[in-house]
Amino acid sequence: ANAAKADGVPEWRRAIVPKDQSFGKRTNLSMKEQRESLPVFAFRDQLIKAVKDNQVLIVVGETGSGKTTQLTQYLDEAGFSNDGMIGCTQPRRVAAMSVAKRVAEEVGCELGQEVGYTIRFEDKTSPSTRIKYMTDGMLEREILIDPDVRRYSVIMLDEAHERTISTGMTALTSRSDILFALLKKTLKRRPDLRVIVTSATLDADKFSEYFNQCPIFTIPGRTFPVEILYSREPESDYLDAALVTIMQIHLTEPSGDILLFLTGQEEIDTSCEILYERMKALGPNVPELMICPIYSSLPTEVQSRVFEPAPPGARKVVIATNIAETSITIDGIYYVVDPGFVKQNTYDPKLGMDSLVVVPISQAQANQRAGRAGRTGPGKCFRLYTEAAYNSELLPTTPPDIQRQNLAHVILMLKAMGINDLLHFDFMDPPPTNTMLEALETLYALSALDDEGLLTRLGRKMADFPMDPSLSKVLIASVDMGCSEEMLTIVAMVSLPNIFYRPKEKQQQADQKKAKFNDPHGDHTTFLNVYNAWKQSGYSSPWCFENFIQYRSMKRAKDVRDQLLKIMQRYRHPIVSCGRDTTKVRQALCSGFFRNAARKDPQEGYKTLVEGTPVYLHPSSALFGKQAEWVIYSELVLTVKEYMHFTTSIEPKWLVEAAPTFFKVAPTDKLSKRKKAERIQPLYNKFATEDDWRLSAQRRGGR
Ligand code: ADP
Ligand code: MG
Repeated sequence: ANAAKADGVPEWRRAIVPKDQSFGKRTNLSMKEQRESLPVFAFRDQLIKAVKDNQVLIVVGETGSGKTTQLTQYLDEAGFSNDGMIGCTQPRRVAAMSVAKRVAEEVGCELGQEVGYTIRFEDKTSPSTRIKYMTDGMLEREILIDPDVRRYSVIMLDEAHERTISTGMTALTSRSDILFALLKKTLKRRPDLRVIVTSATLDADKFSEYFNQCPIFTIPGRTFPVEILYSREPESDYLDAALVTIMQIHLTEPSGDILLFLTGQEEIDTSCEILYERMKALGPNVPELMICPIYSSLPTEVQSRVFEPAPPGARKVVIATNIAETSITIDGIYYVVDPGFVKQNTYDPKLGMDSLVVVPISQAQANQRAGRAGRTGPGKCFRLYTEAAYNSELLPTTPPDIQRQNLAHVILMLKAMGINDLLHFDFMDPPPTNTMLEALETLYALSALDDEGLLTRLGRKMADFPMDPSLSKVLIASVDMGCSEEMLTIVAMVSLPNIFYRPKEKQQQADQKKAKFNDPHGDHTTFLNVYNAWKQSGYSSPWCFENFIQYRSMKRAKDVRDQLLKIMQRYRHPIVSCGRDTTKVRQALCSGFFRNAARKDPQEGYKTLVEGTPVYLHPSSALFGKQAEWVIYSELVLTVKEYMHFTTSIEPKWLVEAAPTFFKVAPTDKLSKRKKAERIQPLYNKFATEDDWRLSAQRRGGR
């Protein structure tokens, strides 16, 4: 019995992993009939013709009409894939994977053969692949390698309206805006290339205008009315309100599945657990409730469960992040429960960091959510906020992603493609100049750009890695410092959401286990300890279970590490180990994260060196309760306070060594050597005023 538990999967989740493999096959329609029942099918031939006749086509259609799964197949059937692949980009990893899986089933091939997908750190395609789903970021990288994208005959930019993302990762997210601009250039050089942009009605005109007034093809929707019910009073605890609502629907409303929108993995897991317990407490006399979570880090076999119909007499409740708004369509939903929040990756220019914050959704999002209840028949949407709040507190639409993201990585890629004049780049929604200048400054401070704003050799190397420039800089620096073996592990580990498992009823036990790995120098080296111990165990799953470590996260860390290792080898960066002396590791970390340096505040917490903002050690940090004077962190997470995530103690002089253009030792002849070392000052405002960049951009542009 223990062996079954060894993976650390909680009971409620074990209960939802399908035991009965016949579930998914219970539908009456054949695959062909299902395909032909989709709204898009009636327009198959017209769509094929429209793509033949137009270089760019905008396709508008309700979510679930078949755009993502069918269009690619129609074009494949029509012969478009004879001289190149049909590529389709998705704003989210889960969507790319789940859709590719579905289409492979429809085509009747093994996933990765004729139909495949590519997401960051995972390539499931082969030479025979004709239809390829991928994230926006992956296509962006391909354009970097081949600006003409010769491997493709058609590129479908799916969900172009969906330009906001919350992946829980600070590194790479969707940036269809950049893709748009790059493809627009490509189209001029490749008259045979076809581009399809799918979008929600709202933005279609704007896209058409951007692509030189290209035609818009509208697939008429087939929707039923949805009754909207608001909370009478504002809810003080939306999670609790949501779960109560679900139980009410389940016990009192006619049959039909439920979709609840929550903000992230933790909330979703907690809710599943509570629902599971509440249902268990009600005993066997109430109808069964099939609880299906869906978010990106969920294992695929659990993910695909959401598409299976509930067994006869039972009801299904799908608990999802906003991926279920537009990217993924689940049939049979009659009830939507909408607490009105979403987790958003917001860029804070002051701190120079992305933070994940829970914010109210927009009215457009609220309506999109409600619409999910009206696909199969008339539905109901329970909004857990008041009508007044909907009218006065929610913004009409969500601002595009590019306006908010940390642009540094994007700009690095654009520079690597030889696009230097960013201020005149053809963005559809240009990012604010300040944000752009910030990103340029970051890259300059990281030595990826020179005084003139041109890519340095280091910058060129950094662009080879699909991640935040700080991390690629750290990795490259670790080679010279003789610790790339260790840094590969650390970089892989920091890219993951959560490594440690800390169940509510066993927090103390979990904390004790974690303490064994804690390194006196901080979290990065603690990660190293965890990974190495796991490696020693033979990458074992029972080991993870015993030590309250998430096995799945560790496996993913290993995958990421292997992928990074491949890139390192491809570009001939030697893999060297520093052994037990991890000083080098901490020094190398400074080379990428010097901007995130903070010093202990005599009163409370820490203050960042750059802006003097108060920040705090997270209670889970290995440094918590220690007296580290100077630290760097790799991420800042805004929850109750501004917490530094992944913090490591450093010596201030390393900052000056790592970033001589960014920090200097204060000019104080009279101070002792020790005092001097502590007078580190940020220099950065001295460089890169708006005018400087504009001037150098003009100089280079030569126009
Ligand atoms: P659109 O892109 O227009 O929103 P899709 O092509 O994603 O529409 O969906 C068409 C149909 O395919 C929907 O009815 C949806 O439920 C079904 N579908 C999509 N992905 C899957 C999947 N992974 N498993 C089962 N059905 C799926
Ligand atoms: Mg779609």
